Amino acid sequence: MPLPIVHHEAYTAEIPADHRFPMRKYDRLAALIRAAGLAEAGFARPEAASAAELARAHDAAYVDAVLGFGLPPAIVREIGLPMNETVVRRAATAAGGTILAARLALETGLACNTAGGSHHARAEQGAGFCTFNDVAVAIGVLLAERRIETALVVDCDVHQGDGTAAIFAGDARVTTLSLHGERNYPVRKRASTIDIGLSDGTEDAAYLEALGAILPPLLDRLQPDIVFYNAGVDPHRDDRLGRLAMSDDGAARQHGRGSGALARSALGGRHRRRLWQRCRGRRTAPPVALPRSGRLRGLRVRGGGGWSGFRPRRRRGIPARYRARTAPRSPCARRRRYARN
Ligand SMILES: [Zn+2]
Repeated sequence: MPLPIVHHEAYTAEIPADHRFPMRKYDRLAALIRAAGLAEAGFARPEAASAAELARAHDAAYVDAVLGFGLPPAIVREIGLPMNETVVRRAATAAGGTILAARLALETGLACNTAGGSHHARAEQGAGFCTFNDVAVAIGVLLAERRIETALVVDCDVHQGDGTAAIFAGDARVTTLSLHGERNYPVRKRASTIDIGLSDGTEDAAYLEALGAILPPLLDRLQPDIVFYNAGVDPHRDDRLGRLAMSDDGAARQHGRGSGALARSALGGRHRRRLWQRCRGRRTAPPVALPRSGRLRGLRVRGGGGWSGFRPRRRRGIPARYRARTAPRSPCARRRRYARN
């Protein structure tokens, strides 16, 4: 069965040609996917997410303000996009696309959306070119429908996933992992379950070591019902806002390692785990199997202090923050409904 890929022409909104946000990338990505023969049966087309679906992750008042074109100018400035009809439609359609990709992944094991990853949007407002947090919306919808009980968000965008972290802070059902440039936007970071803050100029080896050390043991331990993989390409050295120094080859291996670890856990049949992989940006790598590296108890993770390397024998035990969020849940906690139900 071909890999389901979700795409919609509404992902490309009309903004000024000299705007900093590279709006044409969605069309270009779709063209590359077609040219590569990955969408011979066509793309899956999403509906725009409804106000009720968006309110699974956002305050209803914020959703109404966006959909009604009534956002205060200060929040529009923080989002950084002109809130015209096409931009609002794009935000709701991208969230609908991530919901659709997640549903397809639950059916088939793996699916991608060509847009989304709006990880700076918090419950109360958007920021940093992000209007609605599509991944949080999709998780909220699936939790409310009881299609899943747990989710893992693997965020490899070079900017920290502060909005996703804030939305799921204190929610033991959702684990958030962010690999990002420590000195990059946002200035005020929110605590994910695990944050790997990388130094400016980080190159392939250190990045891949961090990802390879964290992800396989994390998947083994959590065995989440679904994984959202935000395959950021802005750690690449040519990215104007990235500050990291990944090469073409390193970026390809980043996605190979990320998607490979996820695909192996989803498709290997050992745990029947579900997977959703989101493709984004200029290139995507096919899932590949890679050898496991390291064990979770060897990891050293510091919020705010940056990735400190993988030291298998010198530090024992799971980092306290991670341990607190992933301890076996009581039946009582398991029954607790999503906060915004
Ligand atoms: Zn980014």
